[in-house]
Amino acid sequence: MLAKEHSRPIFLTPQHIRLDDTFILFFERQIVCDGLVSTWTIETINPEVIIGAQLLRIPQDTGQDLIAAYLDSSPLDLLPGAELRSLRSMLLSESKEFFMGAGVANQLEEWLSGHKFCGSCGGSTRPHASERALVCLPCERHYYPRINPCVIVLVVREDKMLLAKSSRHNADFYSCLAGFMEVGESPEDTVRREVFEEVGIKVGRIDYLSSQSWPFPSQLMLGFIAQYESGDITPEPSEIADAKWFGPDDLPNVPSARISVAGKLISHFLGR
Ligand SMILES: [Zn+2]
Repeated sequence: MLAKEHSRPIFLTPQHIRLDDTFILFFERQIVCDGLVSTWTIETINPEVIIGAQLLRIPQDTGQDLIAAYLDSSPLDLLPGAELRSLRSMLLSESKEFFMGAGVANQLEEWLSGHKFCGSCGGSTRPHASERALVCLPCERHYYPRINPCVIVLVVREDKMLLAKSSRHNADFYSCLAGFMEVGESPEDTVRREVFEEVGIKVGRIDYLSSQSWPFPSQLMLGFIAQYESGDITPEPSEIADAKWFGPDDLPNVPSARISVAGKLISHFLGR
């Protein structure tokens, strides 16, 4: 893997493209799809589409690289039948493998578009010669893709679990509580603070279960199960539309365990 990393740059030019490469195309933060097809090959793509695009190599577990192409102009005239779709809209229809690669590409798009200029001196940035980094030309400050750590927590009390409906995205499902880590906190500190802030409950023992990269836009979700200790459910209305204790027999609509750590926490508790 290391040898491969060194043999081919991260930032690619058209000369680096190989005949067996697979492409994912982004335009205005959306993915260019053709019906059910959401990745492209050198045969299905019109080469004109990627002229002038920023090309970034994303190594995959399969050994086959995915090439993310960030397009400056709309490709829809050059690719008849193509359409733009958000990654979020593809969550349930695509394979986990596609979602992982597309998720990385989506996070890198966020990073590239947010670091065209240096936050320190205002100079232009350019791709690093060998690393996945942008470098400021005048002051040489390096910018790497940023990951934002979050906790996601299932609070449990005997055979019941606390699930909440967010007041933010018109959610039609219940899920675990979640929140960003703040400076100086351990993940367990964040769990205690977030649960108390969002539903007014204190938790005791906290066990880590699983984690996940979540590309909306670039979170690292750390999943925990926390035992109820004291308090009554008091939702914070700006964040939580509703929160209740649910048992295995009265489960509401919850996220899928196939793609989300929230679903995994719930399945783990139900299957204990
Ligand atoms: Zn600078």
